[in-house]
Amino acid sequence: MGIEIRDLSKSYGDFTALADINLTVPTGGLTAVLGPSGSGKTTLLRILGGQETPDAGTVLIDGRDVTHTPARHRNIGFVFQHYAAFKHMSVAKNVAFGPEVRKQPRAEVDRKVQELLELVQLGAFGERMPSQLSGGQRQRMALARALAIEPSVLLLDEPFGALDAKVRKELRDWLHRLHDEVELTSVFVTHDQEEALEVADTIVVVNDGGIEQVGTPEEIYDNPATDFVFHFIGESTLLGDSLLRPHDVVVRPEGEGSGLPGTITRWNRVGFEIRLEVTLDQAVQPGPVHVQMTRTEAQDRGLSPDDRVEVSPHPRAELRPAQALVAADG
Ligand code: ADP
Ligand code: MG
Repeated sequence: MGIEIRDLSKSYGDFTALADINLTVPTGGLTAVLGPSGSGKTTLLRILGGQETPDAGTVLIDGRDVTHTPARHRNIGFVFQHYAAFKHMSVAKNVAFGPEVRKQPRAEVDRKVQELLELVQLGAFGERMPSQLSGGQRQRMALARALAIEPSVLLLDEPFGALDAKVRKELRDWLHRLHDEVELTSVFVTHDQEEALEVADTIVVVNDGGIEQVGTPEEIYDNPATDFVFHFIGESTLLGDSLLRPHDVVVRPEGEGSGLPGTITRWNRVGFEIRLEVTLDQAVQPGPVHVQMTRTEAQDRGLSPDDRVEVSPHPRAELRPAQALVAADG
């Protein structure tokens, strides 16, 4: 069951925001909709949520056609990047809002609110005001509030986008764990490929109002279906007439390898990782070869800045013809 989207299209004037989208979101899954800014992610989520009506197509949730069902009758929870909390209400009151509107008995609401606050690790914060919470805590409150109506579907639009890297990472882990505990079908919009790769069990890559690929994070990363996906997910570099991942380039000291000769012209250490550039002797490509390796690998190979080296693709590397780069950039 889950969510079924059929032949969905949406235009604003003569601008096509979504064109002929077909997608199945499995029940209980955590699905990421990943794409660059302006690719149609929010439009898709708003159509799922009922805040936007499609020009054509159907949306089914758990087998029920909800295409023309108002948002409040879809039983969906929402979390947005900038969560509009009720500033004058305590955290507990914010979470209780949905169930209270639905006229659930007081005792039941109180029990549910406490349970949810525990779930989002805010058990001791119920009496605080939203302004007394950190950004990460506020987004967890937003999640508790979304979950309070016991939705069958949870929609999240860049929910952690405004938070700093460390808190974002914590919330990703936490969202993933939440999914193991609560029966929920979630659709998560992000433009951050790392976030999608880390959190989701299914990734839908969108571009220009269309779907480029649907797959597990591994499938998307290892077997990109289109040049767009290859470029958008993870890094890529040119090596002669091929495109490949920078960590799939093998660099050896001159005389020890069998690849193209060149010089290490840039050496940038970022934590455990070394990002380097090798400028080739022959002008077989525009610009240098970009390489990523761990610091340990660089040490084991005896590499240092300005060294003379040879570069070749790793035998297991996925190579793509270089025209793809020209096409994608041009
Ligand atoms: P994303 O969330 O992927 O950044 P959106 O779904 O918000 O993209 O927008 C997709 C495209 O549709 C953008 O080019 C945006 O300008 C356009 N768009 C979105 N909503 C409207 C609207 N209400 N009126 C006109 N254009 C819109
Ligand atoms: Mg958006």
